[in-house]
Amino acid sequence: MRNVLREHFGFHDFRENQEAIIKNILQKKDVFAVMPTGGGKSLCYQLPSKLLNGTVVVISPLISLMKDQVDAAMENGFSAAYLNSSLSVDEVYSIYRRIHAHSLELLYIAPERFAMTHFYETLRAVPIALFAIDEAHCISEWGHDFRPDYLSLSSIAMNFREVPIAAFTATATAQVQEDIIRKLGLRDPYVVRASFDRRNLFYRVEKKIDIEKQVMKFIREHASSPGIIYRATRDSTVTLSNYLTKNGVRALPYHAGLSAEERTKNQNAFSKDEVSVIAATIAFGMGIDKSNVRFVIHADLPKNIEGYYQETGRAGRDGEPSECVLYYSAGDAFKIRFFIDKIEEEQERATAEAKLTRMIRYASVNICRRRQLLDYLGEKYEPQNCGTCDVCVGAYELRDITEDAQIVMSAVSRTGQRYGRLHVTDVVLGKGTKRVLELKHDKVKTFGAGKHKDKDYWRAIFDELIVQELLVQEGDKYPVIKLTQHGTNVLFDNETVMANMRPEIKAEVIKKVSRTEAGSQFEDYDKALFECLRALRRRLADEQNVAPFIVFSDRTLHEMCRHYPTSINQLLNIAGVGQYKIDRYGDDFIEEIKAYLEQNPKMEPDIP
Ligand code: ADP
Ligand code: ZN
Repeated sequence: MRNVLREHFGFHDFRENQEAIIKNILQKKDVFAVMPTGGGKSLCYQLPSKLLNGTVVVISPLISLMKDQVDAAMENGFSAAYLNSSLSVDEVYSIYRRIHAHSLELLYIAPERFAMTHFYETLRAVPIALFAIDEAHCISEWGHDFRPDYLSLSSIAMNFREVPIAAFTATATAQVQEDIIRKLGLRDPYVVRASFDRRNLFYRVEKKIDIEKQVMKFIREHASSPGIIYRATRDSTVTLSNYLTKNGVRALPYHAGLSAEERTKNQNAFSKDEVSVIAATIAFGMGIDKSNVRFVIHADLPKNIEGYYQETGRAGRDGEPSECVLYYSAGDAFKIRFFIDKIEEEQERATAEAKLTRMIRYASVNICRRRQLLDYLGEKYEPQNCGTCDVCVGAYELRDITEDAQIVMSAVSRTGQRYGRLHVTDVVLGKGTKRVLELKHDKVKTFGAGKHKDKDYWRAIFDELIVQELLVQEGDKYPVIKLTQHGTNVLFDNETVMANMRPEIKAEVIKKVSRTEAGSQFEDYDKALFECLRALRRRLADEQNVAPFIVFSDRTLHEMCRHYPTSINQLLNIAGVGQYKIDRYGDDFIEEIKAYLEQNPKMEPDIP
């Protein structure tokens, strides 16, 4: 096992659970494994194909991913192919020939193939080492991705009694787990439920003020790293990607309203690092396994934590530090609520409402983000301080905001609780706008009481008071701010109002923190060399028409940029560099590093 791990994958150690899963497969036991995205599921079924007699048949619903998966396996020295509806008749025949010749170690197929009798017959005539079922939750009607095609997989266990089945998923509640095991007919499976803690992800929430500028600033601070920005509507993905493009960031939109070709084209451009940013609706992501997504931004509030977790999960599959930022405003919550209110079925409405409340809570309270996410997923997070979220790195300050809350609430009250936030803010700031003068609001007592602070500050106070339910926003088209009963009490009884105010945390602080404490596994690397190696990787990938991260992952390049390997032996010591990659790319990378060292003589190789 370890030899294959080193030689074909170039890794020195197994990740959590991988070894146990593989051992069970080698003993021909069934396996059911829930592992988070990036947990390293594919290695669990690829590796045994080198040690067992016969083909490993991998069933995966994502046709768009098959090519990448097969490319990656071939790069690691596996004989692999896929069968799906995108192939020509000739191509299909040639693959059948390879199956019959027992020359395939890995065969990726879409589930509908199992409904075809001749395919079944073909498989029965050749040795099969394992059936690996990816995204196994698709077989469950209880899950969120039910695919009727998956039901045909229940016949595997009956028809291939002697072949083990390993089912993998990144999402499964206890109920869905039971359902999967029963529907697939797994025989006393070895069950793994891995932790959903993604330690390399830094979670943070920021007040949403001017989203385009905020996103632009974030991207500038993360020069040319690939990232995904989720937005709530199709239009806003297009507006944002145009804005970014205008500002010199290579960006493309992605949403369900684009044609299938355009979506594929945009996704490929992102996958191949031709553009660095995708501005997408939640339609994006299912079919992407790009391992070097360095950030996931939510520019609008997600509707629930499940969705949020899934989407942020697309960052950092390679295990390198990556950031997940949610820009939150109470206005977004208000918009979602507006749609929830329209749901007719009462139970469904209540569920959606409760989920939204949890989401708002995630964004508003001063509790470790990681603990909140894991808590929602039913996992207890023990450490007091995760070290990699904005709350834990002390980005918060609990402050007494009573005076400012009074200014705002009294302005709301004195103007008759009939105006929107912008107008009341003008009053607080003492702005003599036409409307203010017309309504004689320059005469109310709180006019100009908040001159000492700016508009953004007051916006934050409004948000805070809405979150604390001292104020509410009512009405859809022209929302009006009112005092709640609680707010009225606070205003007239002089109660103290406390709030966690978030001074902006600097990108450097986050980077430093994510490399220490919980992130001690992450060290700095030579950024200039990384840019050279990244360019080389892209050139090599283009030559072969594969995605760059298939040549080497970011993690592997980062490690090269710490140790400067200049010989084949040194390069073999880098995680992710196996014998197969050495044969193909070793010399190119060594030359590039040597050339770099000649120009930067201060740096030295530091591995034997
Ligand atoms: P999943 O399918 O669970 O989302 P993948 O199989 O795509 O995850 O693996 C995620 C990343 O982790 C890949 O870049 C893979 O090369 C890497 N990886 C897997 N196993 C190991 C390991 N034992 N050591 C280091 N990296 C690993
Ligand atoms: Zn934390």
